[in-house]
Amino acid sequence: MSRIRIALVPGDGIGPEVINATRGVLDAACRRFGIDLSYDELLAGGIAIDATGSPLPEATLATARQCQAVLLGAVGGPRWDTLPGHLRPERALLGLRSGLGLYANLRPAVLHGPLASACPLHPAIAARGIDMVIVRELTGGLYFGERGRKNGPGGEEAFDTETYSVLEVERIARVGFELARGRKRRLVSVDKANVLESSRLWRETVLRVAADYPDVALEHLYVDNAAMQLIRRPDDFDVMVTSNLFGDILSDEAAMITGSIGMLPSASLGAPGTPGMYEPIHGSAPDIAGQDKANPLATILSAAMMLRLSLGRPDAAAAVEEAVRTVLESGVRTLDIHDRSPELPPAVGTREMGRLVARAVLDGDPDPASRTTSRTSSARKGKGRTAPKSGRTGRSRS
Ligand code: NAD
Repeated sequence: MSRIRIALVPGDGIGPEVINATRGVLDAACRRFGIDLSYDELLAGGIAIDATGSPLPEATLATARQCQAVLLGAVGGPRWDTLPGHLRPERALLGLRSGLGLYANLRPAVLHGPLASACPLHPAIAARGIDMVIVRELTGGLYFGERGRKNGPGGEEAFDTETYSVLEVERIARVGFELARGRKRRLVSVDKANVLESSRLWRETVLRVAADYPDVALEHLYVDNAAMQLIRRPDDFDVMVTSNLFGDILSDEAAMITGSIGMLPSASLGAPGTPGMYEPIHGSAPDIAGQDKANPLATILSAAMMLRLSLGRPDAAAAVEEAVRTVLESGVRTLDIHDRSPELPPAVGTREMGRLVARAVLDGDPDPASRTTSRTSSARKGKGRTAPKSGRTGRSRS
């Protein structure tokens, strides 16, 4: 068995807390499935600015390139908010994405059955379930276009530009079509082609690529309409493909309707052979950092995506996803997904949630030898409920 190198980038705020909890789950999955992982812990974000003066030290990118995947917590915080743009912690994210050539960002939004009450939509809509993936273009568009400031007749002006090439749109469209092919064969492409020239090129290109995927039903939506339809009929969506800016906004909306931003994982992928990067979609949550309040499930589910998409271990990925479902079905909740109902036990912290998911990974092992080991160790710790084994209610696919 060869050792797999993972670049671990905890970052700032709740980043190190959710990464620690996730590491425990990965350790459990590795133990159960005989996977040999080694971690290179790397600096990025505010912590890197403090240590080196740069949000993304060269050594971080160089080491990340040598690893099979990158698992990132979150970066940023008020402490670094007054720095000029090129020195802000968020530049680390853009630098990693462009430095690793990660052009496709996959954000599954799944309403897990036990969390239906955390969905802010009408219960009749929540009851229909949500299981979609947003595919966001990640290395082009407005976030990478020409920008600047100049003086104009109305005083100082600022501008950002959106540019998309046919190549960029075509490769992200193919990711969307391929993904839809493995799911319900429905793809919605989101643009603003009624106003923006870059969107018109987007739509023409998606339409041309569609000719190679006659088995996938394609729908186009303007972004304003897409934002409405996500609220009105979220169960109708399967795969959505869109630009960097629109994907950023719509995936936060999708996060909220699935309960909490603390639940949504993501994968960023580039050309075959390059390391993928996996991270929760939330930020560093300075308001709850250091308080053991953060929900680690988005990061744990990101690690599951890493196991499936970069490490070729769908068995271990499915076990982690199943463990998350089992723990949620047993009533365990962090504060952000706790609906305050008296039927639920009190909310648990980040560490405890991670510990319970790790235990559920081991408890799901049909091999009695490892089950005994895991039960003994959890009994010794003596905390937490035993997660009952019950049927799947949520579905998670990537
Ligand atoms: P945020 O996602 O950090 O927080 C938004 C709200 O969601 C907060 O109330 C927070 O407490 C809550 N929240 C977020 N993650 C949670 C979790 N796992 N469990 C429970 N609650 C959670 O967004 P923000 O407040 O806009 O940004 C804070 C900092 O994070 C900023 O510096 C921002 O630039 C940075 N940021 C980083 C990333 C990233 O690293 N990928 C993404 C977004 C924002």
